[in-house]
Amino acid sequence: MTNDLKEIAQELPAIEKQNGRYQCFRCGSLIDQKLWKLSEEVLYCRACIQLGRIRSDQKLYAIAQQNFEGQEVLNWKGTLTSYQQEVSEGLIQAVKAGKHALVHAVTGAGKTEMMYQVVATAIKAGKAVCIATPRIDVCIELYGRMKDDFSCPISLLHGESEPYFRTPLVIATTHQLLKFYQAFDLLIIDEVDAFPYVDNPILYKATQNAIKKEGNTLYLTATSTDELDKKVKKKKSFVIVFQEDFMGTH
Ligand SMILES: [Zn+2]
Repeated sequence: MTNDLKEIAQELPAIEKQNGRYQCFRCGSLIDQKLWKLSEEVLYCRACIQLGRIRSDQKLYAIAQQNFEGQEVLNWKGTLTSYQQEVSEGLIQAVKAGKHALVHAVTGAGKTEMMYQVVATAIKAGKAVCIATPRIDVCIELYGRMKDDFSCPISLLHGESEPYFRTPLVIATTHQLLKFYQAFDLLIIDEVDAFPYVDNPILYKATQNAIKKEGNTLYLTATSTDELDKKVKKKKSFVIVFQEDFMGTH
């Protein structure tokens, strides 16, 4: 990082000590103090090392996210079915109310188009939006569709992609979220059920770090996982948008 950037960046601890234990600030993993060390004094995080080594004698730097200039970005001229319209509206309302949402939508229900309005509304308000999914193939497919359906520049981030450039819309693998700190007003996690997200503390931490404090997270899932539902229902800040599937068979 250049000195110019360092001057405007927020300095964060790389590894934090809490109650005698050391924890990686980026991914939240507990540091194995016997094995994850470079010298007697310097610890590092092995859990997120593929994104660059986090070490205790260095700092992390976060560049504060600036708002974007609001713009109309939706090129898509298709129409939503009434079910899709309801979900789409539910997402917009959840965000308006400052809530996070868990959205059940079965595969083939046109999940992508149902996100379009809420994404476009946020970008129109100058906000920063990220759509993240654990699956790289889904990322690439989404990018291919959304760069036609949206007129704004879009960053695509995965293990082998080009470096990040600042865009109002980012499509990324969930793992790439580890690179962001309080960067997004709206974070949509697609295919939450593709891995045990709730029980994956690294990705949970990544999501928490990547979203702004007052931001909203929308979780899209195709298969209802009882565990996710249970956890979400306990939280007041959460709403569940349309538990029934689009066949109305729930
Ligand atoms: Zn880490």
